[in-house]
Amino acid sequence: MIIPKGPRLTPEQLQEVTSIVEEFGCRIQTIIGTTRSVYAILGDERSETMRGRIEGLPYIDRIDSIQSSFKLMDVRSDLASHEIRIGGIGVRKQLLVIAGQCTIDPKNPNIFIETAHAVKEAGAHVLRGGVWKPRTNPYSFQGDNRSMEILLEASRQTGLPVNTEVMDEQHLQIALQAGVQMIQIGTRNALNYSLLRQIGAAIAGRPTIVLLKRSRHMGPIDEFISAAEYIVNFGNPNVMLCPRGTMPTLEGYRSHPDESITPLLKERTWAPVIVDPSHSVGKATYVEACSLASIAYGADGLCIEAHVNPAKGIGDDPKQSVTPETLRRIIERAHAIWALTRSR
Ligand code: PEP
Ligand code: MN
Repeated sequence: MIIPKGPRLTPEQLQEVTSIVEEFGCRIQTIIGTTRSVYAILGDERSETMRGRIEGLPYIDRIDSIQSSFKLMDVRSDLASHEIRIGGIGVRKQLLVIAGQCTIDPKNPNIFIETAHAVKEAGAHVLRGGVWKPRTNPYSFQGDNRSMEILLEASRQTGLPVNTEVMDEQHLQIALQAGVQMIQIGTRNALNYSLLRQIGAAIAGRPTIVLLKRSRHMGPIDEFISAAEYIVNFGNPNVMLCPRGTMPTLEGYRSHPDESITPLLKERTWAPVIVDPSHSVGKATYVEACSLASIAYGADGLCIEAHVNPAKGIGDDPKQSVTPETLRRIIERAHAIWALTRSR
């Protein structure tokens, strides 16, 4: 990774660096961060001559050779100062709350609009709503393209940016054309490397943010961070990691709660950690404890399923969505734990 002396290279400087690496069969990928840009050398970057010629340029600080399978996401990367902003929040500096229904019911658009207003009132910064759903049972409701219009209407009325999950290239194109600000990659696709690459390529040069959930089958933490690297190495560093419970499931819980991996992630990566307590515990009454534990563990935010009338919901909403009243209490208490644990 090439680190310039200034915050970024001029077009002429980039051209000069590019022509050097091309002589050695490599190419340059620019990764644009908020405070600085870095330049990844793609290809075999070991040539001493190539490195020497680049490091000799007056505007280059150094070539960083972080020995890591996730050079860009590594906590030592120069991208570590990158700030992701959404919903008026500078993530990592302030607590980020994403909330809303698991699933948008296309037959019941008003209920989603009501939920959207209610989660905003409760203090959420981003509205979540599933347009397309990855369902274990092929006969369960799979989502509906028409729900995108409901999601957009809720966003227009509340002014909240939105998050929705995409499972394939077609969903991705629809979501990007609709202007969805945050794309979710669900637990089932977190290791789908061709989808990760497609998403990385599609969001490069856009302000889109990705919420990457932890696969239920991921063991090592590095596997999770490397999945983020797949996306970021196309040029957009806006990826946030979302532990959402793992395997084996604990009897009584939907998954094996994994908010406790947050400090381990934070030791290795600068990526924001946004815990999803809803899919972790899978039951509305346990969501508050899991949310507060996540903030105590150092998480930067929460993604919580909430619904104005969970019993009338579809998908996961009847069993695991909290009411707006509970959401408000969780957010208030999460802020209190944040203040307590972040004060020096
Ligand atoms: C969801 O967010 O509703 C969802 C299906 O998530 P996960 O991929 O974590 O199961
Ligand atoms: Mn859900």
